[in-house]
Amino acid sequence: MAKSGNDVWVFVEQREGRPVDVSLELLSKGRKLAESMNGVLKSVVMGEGATSIARETFLYGADESFVVEHPSLKTFRTLPYSRVMTSLVEQHTPRVVLFGATVIGRDLAPRVASHTRSGLTADCTDLRISDVSYLGKEYKSLLLQIRPAFGGNIIATIIAPDSPTQMATVREGVMEMLPLDQPHAGRVIEVPYQPNDIDELVHIVEQHRVENKVNLKGAPIIVAGGYGLGTKENFQLVHELAHTLGGEVAGSRAAVDAGFIPHERQVGQTGVTVRPKLYFAVGISGAIQHRAGMQEAKKIIAINTDPDAPIFDISHYGIVGDAMEIIPKFIEAYKSKLK
Ligand code: FAD
Repeated sequence: MAKSGNDVWVFVEQREGRPVDVSLELLSKGRKLAESMNGVLKSVVMGEGATSIARETFLYGADESFVVEHPSLKTFRTLPYSRVMTSLVEQHTPRVVLFGATVIGRDLAPRVASHTRSGLTADCTDLRISDVSYLGKEYKSLLLQIRPAFGGNIIATIIAPDSPTQMATVREGVMEMLPLDQPHAGRVIEVPYQPNDIDELVHIVEQHRVENKVNLKGAPIIVAGGYGLGTKENFQLVHELAHTLGGEVAGSRAAVDAGFIPHERQVGQTGVTVRPKLYFAVGISGAIQHRAGMQEAKKIIAINTDPDAPIFDISHYGIVGDAMEIIPKFIEAYKSKLK
């Protein structure tokens, strides 16, 4: 079995011949992890057109790419993808393997982890490499798999000390996408694939795609409202402020649960992770699960009646007061500046 020392691998998902954002985000993070233990960053790409996707992964830091080019792998299917991925991990024993916490990643990662007896942590919010002293033993270059636990009441650091390969899934938007300033030429490693009977047990008969019309991740300005708005009618003010500023509307989970706003616009641990230039948090307390989805915003403005609300701890500007009075003033002031 060829061991690949401190290699970091990223499983790269594709849609219509393009790598998905979370895979590029993971490559950016993977680059830092690999550098911190003098390892090599490798992408794993499967499907039709995999070679051109592999080349794109070099722009995001991959040094090498395993390419499994085959028309029957065009669309993800659990059995062939997990067979190929498992066999690659078994052959090379990378130190770290990262997957997006997407529908595909959540299907694939546990299968590969259990086949290869690797440690896996889902939905990590941070990843680091460190030497660890644990139960009287010293471990080199462990992956610290950091994520909220126990309902978000603690941030847990999870390790898989006795597992040669350590795996993690990470949700879209959690890591920053950082193309290399000076792209380098990477190396494509072609991996042969031969379908077998088990791979072909599941056939894709038809595919239906529903495009997501809400793009919170790409919005430079987000106005988010919380339970503090009180009613769906009051929540209209959040829409008005967003409209005035040319931003997107979002909300906390409590606002979603109260029916003020649909779930696709929820920001936080169980919603979307965003990094806009400007984030308004209106009537949002700032629970850790909400902050997990927005604390990387470049500027945060919070409006809250409670001066001790935790949201003020991470805000750049805080306004203590009733949102119902403050938002109309904001809108008026902004419009008069535009005149
Ligand atoms: P509240 O906590 O009720 O806060 C309302 C705030 O509005 C208060 O600070 C209050 O002072 C203020 N306020 C009241 N009236 C006014 C007014 N007139 N003007 C201005 N301010 C006013 N939450 C998320 O947001 N996203 C998630 O993804 C998420 N995932 C979760 C996952 C798990 C496993 C768990 C356990 C919880 C999760 N939560 C999530 C819920 C989270 O813990 C909080 O309950 C939620 O964020 C609270 O929403 P909120 O701040 O809108 O409401």
